Amino acid sequence: MEPGGGSSRGMIRRVAEKAAVTPLTIGESCGVFGVFAPGEEAARLAYFGLFALQHRGQESAGIATSDGNAITVYKDLGLVAQVFDEGKLASLTGDMAIGHTRYSTTGSTVWANSQPTYRDLGDASIALSHNGNLTNTSVLGQQFDRSGASTDSELMTQALAEAIEAGASLPKAIATVAPEFEGAFTLAIMDRKTLVGIRDPMGFRPLCLGALGEGWVIASETAALDIIGAKFVREVSPGEMVVITSDGVESHFPFAAAQPQMCVFEFVYFARPDSRLYGEEIHSARRRMGERLAEQSHVDVDIVVPVPESGIPGAQGYAARAGIPYIDGLVKNRYIGRTFINPSQSMRDLGVRMKLNAMPGELGGRRVVLVDDSIVRGSTTRQLVQMVREAGATEIHLRILSPPYRWPCFYGMDTGDRSTLLAAGKEVADIAEYLAVDSLAYLELDGLLAATGAPADGFCTACLSGNYPTDVPMTADKFLLERS
Ligand code: AMP
Repeated sequence: MEPGGGSSRGMIRRVAEKAAVTPLTIGESCGVFGVFAPGEEAARLAYFGLFALQHRGQESAGIATSDGNAITVYKDLGLVAQVFDEGKLASLTGDMAIGHTRYSTTGSTVWANSQPTYRDLGDASIALSHNGNLTNTSVLGQQFDRSGASTDSELMTQALAEAIEAGASLPKAIATVAPEFEGAFTLAIMDRKTLVGIRDPMGFRPLCLGALGEGWVIASETAALDIIGAKFVREVSPGEMVVITSDGVESHFPFAAAQPQMCVFEFVYFARPDSRLYGEEIHSARRRMGERLAEQSHVDVDIVVPVPESGIPGAQGYAARAGIPYIDGLVKNRYIGRTFINPSQSMRDLGVRMKLNAMPGELGGRRVVLVDDSIVRGSTTRQLVQMVREAGATEIHLRILSPPYRWPCFYGMDTGDRSTLLAAGKEVADIAEYLAVDSLAYLELDGLLAATGAPADGFCTACLSGNYPTDVPMTADKFLLERS
């Protein structure tokens, strides 16, 4: 039986009617950033902030700035350092900026989907950066003019533009229309003189507030504050809107209160290890996940080896708790990122070897516990196991720092439908057989939640438990299991 219930749809509270119009491209888990720094070059600060958030999205990058009179936007496909150079940053003038890095594992990598989005409203023009997915775009598409909108982020921009054209200020427009949005949305929005940061009432995706001299910064993760020397002030609360102007910061709560539901995968995989969420340093939380996994699934081996980078803190915790030596048996190419040059088929077949390589000198003749944070599709993991075996490991015991990933995410982690998820509909023994490991153990959900150090009821665990905290409005197709 599935952990979340008996049937594949059992825990979904409501699957709404199939959208009457073609669904919009959904947004993805991304990095957002905003800064108001009087007298400073905001574009340069945004560039460094985005650089620290690069792990949250490698498909495209963009910055919008305001000099108080006009908004300028530059965005393109590629990594932050590929998209921007001195000349482009110099043309982005002003002391207020928002930025965005876009992530997707599937979906279209086209310029039109890059952010910030922009609407020319004369003196009231706006730019917007979004992290998350809305779950009611079909309803919103009937409510607002969706003709120019190809993504949920653009639809939100359009909704705001309509309220602003009707006479509302930016904060008032957000407070009026944002309660219509359902699902995950952490936003950085600005007009020429106001910077706004907002989290949806459940706070699926993170946002923090920092102080920088006379100015203010908002960012998906605290690591983006550190890189520009901003002082962490606090996390923006779920449902909170912070309005930043030359008068300072105001806090508003435009939504009905809800139980916070931060994505637990922020702790497992997404967030940088040096960021803090719910006041907890992510690296320490991941180390605790490893400790708990060692307690839960001890096995007699010679060495504990992490899958870099994501498995490192967990493997350290596992090794320390189990009293087994921690060894780097795999090396990751540090310069790997998504490139926009498609490798040839023969290179693609090399697959994981482009990212990771195994060292026979460390692995040969040894019984290995291999630690990684998660298995999604299983294709990387399967190749990796084979590589470790070829490097001479005599036994491979795979330990995963989160429970089986069995349910599709609707809130910003674009990991595909159920048919692409290795663990969907499978028992752990079947997964172990597919991956060709000697044993396989996943950290139990209770252990994962306890390891975060944050309140256990403060997380969305839908991908692991099947318990969706909101109505799920897409077609039911995303739930079908069609693996051949
Ligand atoms: P696979 O075996 O193909 O499922 O790949 C497993 C690896 O994917 C693990 O090392 C994870 O760190 C990584 N991973 C987990 N979630 C994601 C995600 N949303 N996007 C990309 N990689 C991910």
